[in-house]
Amino acid sequence: MIERRKSVTATVGKVFVGRGHPVVVQSMTNTDTADVAATVSQVADLARAGSELVRVTVNTKEAAVAVPEIVKRLQDQGMDIPVIGDFHYNGHILLSDYKDCARALAKYRINPGNVGVGKRHDENFRRMIEVALENDKPVRIGVNWGSLDQALLSRLMDENAKLPEPREARDVTLEAIVLSALESAAMAEDYGLSHDRIILSAKVSGVQDLIVVYRALAGRCDYPLHLGLTEAGMGTKGIVASAAALSVLLQEGIGDTIRVSLTPAPNGDRTQEVLVSQQILQSIGIRSFVPQVTACPGCGRTTSTFFQEMADQIQSYLRAQMPVWKESYQGVEELKVAVMGCVVNGPGESKHSNIGISLPGTGEEPRAPVFVDGRLTTTLRGTTLVGDFISILNEYVASHYAPRPALEAPSHG
Ligand code: SF4
Repeated sequence: MIERRKSVTATVGKVFVGRGHPVVVQSMTNTDTADVAATVSQVADLARAGSELVRVTVNTKEAAVAVPEIVKRLQDQGMDIPVIGDFHYNGHILLSDYKDCARALAKYRINPGNVGVGKRHDENFRRMIEVALENDKPVRIGVNWGSLDQALLSRLMDENAKLPEPREARDVTLEAIVLSALESAAMAEDYGLSHDRIILSAKVSGVQDLIVVYRALAGRCDYPLHLGLTEAGMGTKGIVASAAALSVLLQEGIGDTIRVSLTPAPNGDRTQEVLVSQQILQSIGIRSFVPQVTACPGCGRTTSTFFQEMADQIQSYLRAQMPVWKESYQGVEELKVAVMGCVVNGPGESKHSNIGISLPGTGEEPRAPVFVDGRLTTTLRGTTLVGDFISILNEYVASHYAPRPALEAPSHG
């Protein structure tokens, strides 16, 4: 059992973020926010995939004008997913001038490295906090080392240079990232924002650096923390690096919301970042989202592709069923299914799952024993094997998971 770090709870729309509440999955659009139809469509896709908060860029007056319409159209579709505004450079102007935008957003992300320099920095930052106060909104103070407050970094580097034994530049940079978040939060509180209206993040792109930064933040404040490896990259690299970094921190109880910042392939599916976030949380046992399929990797004993195809079909089927199942059956997301390639580990692994099938390996008799809750219940054969196994799955779900009550309290309290 992972014990979450102590933190206060912040409310973002209807979603609670902090200790005592589930770790929240978030994502970000990559559409032009001024394109209302495209942005509504992508936010809806992300929400349907399981994103519980969605952030949109608000970088121009056209984007700011679009925000209220985006939120309205989502609500018209029955989606009250909190939409968060991401501000850099001109956030103080956009939030001041476009009041409907400021009202429609559920939270403002402020990057303290991108709000101006010197006196302007403090004035612009203050203005954004004032708008948050006027509209009763929380903020995320989101530091990113790609846009770290250079005045703060210079200050720390100068102080470090005067030490009898100066620290490594990397250590000073990481400390500057942490301090930028903490000092900005303190400044926001000085300007009147309450302690429980602040969420912090401090993203870097290196796994070890991220762990150092978040351990430091976790030890020095009780604000909820939003975790993410920034600029994680594409494909396997981005997924594995994010999983490596986030898993270490989540295992230590650090992290109240997460985002996996994958670079999609051109025209790729943006919802992948949501599925990866969910899989990280489910793999380490923090939350369950979809039934899990245990499948062996296959080897020289599985020379046909039937076994891979079946594992893929079962996994796709389970994911496709979830929108319906989760409305109907309590706890179905905890279901464990095994699809195994041969008799070596097949029966054993199948017995550890709710339902498992052990397919015949090369040279084995063409029969597939099915285990339900650890007991051999039937043996499947022939061309209808996949369909027959799916029927067993459906029967199991209908008979083992209680109907979900029609009126249930919201999952985020
Ligand atoms: S269960 Fe059988 S097919 Fe799968 S990896 Fe092990 S030996 Fe190979």
